[in-house]
Amino acid sequence: MPYCWPKETVFEELVLNVEDRFCPVCGRRMSICDHRHHRVFTFDGPLHLTCKLVHCPNESCPAHRRTFSPEAEMGIVMPWWVVGWDVFCWIGHRRFARHWSVPQIREELDDSYRIVLSDDAIEKYIHRYQAMVAARQQDPRLLAETYRDVEEVVLSIDGLQPEKGHETLYVVRELTKKRVWFAEALLSSSEAEVRRLLVQARQWTERLGKRVRVWMSDKQEAFLKGIETEFPGVPHRYCENHFMHDLAKPVLDMDSNAKVQMRRKVRGLRPIEREVLDKRRGQDIQSEEGSSNCNAPPEPSNLSEEAGAVVLDYCVAVRGILNDNHGGPLYPPGLRMSDALGEVRQSLDRNFEAKKGGAAKRCCNG
Ligand SMILES: [Zn+2]
Repeated sequence: MPYCWPKETVFEELVLNVEDRFCPVCGRRMSICDHRHHRVFTFDGPLHLTCKLVHCPNESCPAHRRTFSPEAEMGIVMPWWVVGWDVFCWIGHRRFARHWSVPQIREELDDSYRIVLSDDAIEKYIHRYQAMVAARQQDPRLLAETYRDVEEVVLSIDGLQPEKGHETLYVVRELTKKRVWFAEALLSSSEAEVRRLLVQARQWTERLGKRVRVWMSDKQEAFLKGIETEFPGVPHRYCENHFMHDLAKPVLDMDSNAKVQMRRKVRGLRPIEREVLDKRRGQDIQSEEGSSNCNAPPEPSNLSEEAGAVVLDYCVAVRGILNDNHGGPLYPPGLRMSDALGEVRQSLDRNFEAKKGGAAKRCCNG
């Protein structure tokens, strides 16, 4: 849909002419046949481009039906875009180098540059930016330049499943330069499908003229067989991360068992909280009833009020600990739970000690 410019927008006018006015086929001077208007946001303000289009007037020339546009237009903006290259690059850079969200980009464009775009439009430009970056990353000349000083490459392949039931994205990465070489969503992880990616990886290494020192992946059958076939003699190592996960599995099972037992032991938070709240409610009624008695000492009620609040705080802390499921194989959740419960116990012990000390003191003084 064309962009709807507000009526009061002030445009800078720029007229572009075709650089070479002579017909590339017959050499006659071409004549203007049409104008194309292109309004576009730039960081220097809104710009109104008027492109003078030309064609060859010679009706017998094969170029007669062709229209030629000024090449300079593409240096400012791509066809149908509403933002110039400067804004386009700014959006892509904020998204991918600074990890800004789309609404954040939209607001900043509006606040600082008075460029009003919808989230949809920004997302569309981000996709195009992504496609351009991917194309550039895969450009064979640039790749050869990047790998000029590298003697051997280390390759890895892995499948990522963004959500259960969705197709898996297979990614081939090179580890000496930490680069994603290419990625493809495969409908199945069959040997034939995965093989295509491995063939492509082989072609890339051949084109670069590099030896593969080692392959790394998990032990999916399709990887094992495919790599053995496409890269005979190249060592294939098990990925450390997957290795770690498999190693940790029995530990995590034991940990989860320990968690269940701790939860079973530390229970009954609800009745404790209810008791405190019931007492509070009782006191409220009492204090309302006895409000006429101004000489009544307020202390005992405040003291138990304070104690009740402490008990409730402890309950909140313990509930948080019991519901916390974070932590990986290196610091499993059960271990974290045990540490945290230990801290609560120490804190309770400190309170008891303080109370004993206080009582003893009072005893001596009194
Ligand atoms: Zn011509």
